[in-house]
Amino acid sequence: MSSQHRDLSALAAVPAESRPARRFSGRLLDLVFPARCAGCGNMGDLFCAACREQVQPVPQPICIRCGKPAERTGRCQACRDGVFQVSAIRAAAVYHEPISRVIHEFKYNGRRELSQPLGELLAEYWRARPVSVDLVVAVPLHKHRFNERGFNQSQLLAETLCRAASLSLVQPEVLRRERKTQQQVHLGLAERQANVSGAFIWTGPDLASASVLLIDDVATTGATLEACGEALNTAGAGRVWALTVARSVGEKDPN
Ligand SMILES: [Zn+2]
Ligand SMILES: [Zn+2]
Repeated sequence: MSSQHRDLSALAAVPAESRPARRFSGRLLDLVFPARCAGCGNMGDLFCAACREQVQPVPQPICIRCGKPAERTGRCQACRDGVFQVSAIRAAAVYHEPISRVIHEFKYNGRRELSQPLGELLAEYWRARPVSVDLVVAVPLHKHRFNERGFNQSQLLAETLCRAASLSLVQPEVLRRERKTQQQVHLGLAERQANVSGAFIWTGPDLASASVLLIDDVATTGATLEACGEALNTAGAGRVWALTVARSVGEKDPN
């Protein structure tokens, strides 16, 4: 880290080594409430080996910018024509069963413990294809939605990734979602862009050309990631990358 980036390290959460181990209490809880697989419902694991085997990567070739399946390698037409805040978006898996069901259980049924197996998918992807980043930032929720859900799924995913890959995670609420945005399920690309543009603000120090990795659960059009990238670039980020657990490729529109 350069001297400029040293100030930024104050933003990072506590490093993984200094956190108390929580595995033991987790094992004890398993005796009382045995885990149920969020993919198939079988007892035993949170996300069983059989379901994990069904997780598919995004089919190749993909556009090197937006990460969507493409006809050939290189940039897709939309990415050739546009100017973007996020240099590249990648996902650990395509948004299909069973991963779509696991993400749904995680976000909408309050199963926050699923941040562990889902975050491990991020870590596996990262280990196979790392890029140089100074900081990791989770896509924030508006405080109303945070209060409804009780946790920010992206922050929990980023925590698992950063512990596993020894990356520096920025504390919650340094990047803030200021404006409450509509649910995006029924919105097209242009409407999504208008819905989220300017919704995020960076409240930390100047990013001094730091390279930042954004984390979210699912990418659909990439509009939310772009809006976060806009706030990070305005704050002086040198490069913004994005990694999500899953990539929706059209047939389902999860967020
Ligand atoms: Zn299963
Ligand atoms: Zn593209």
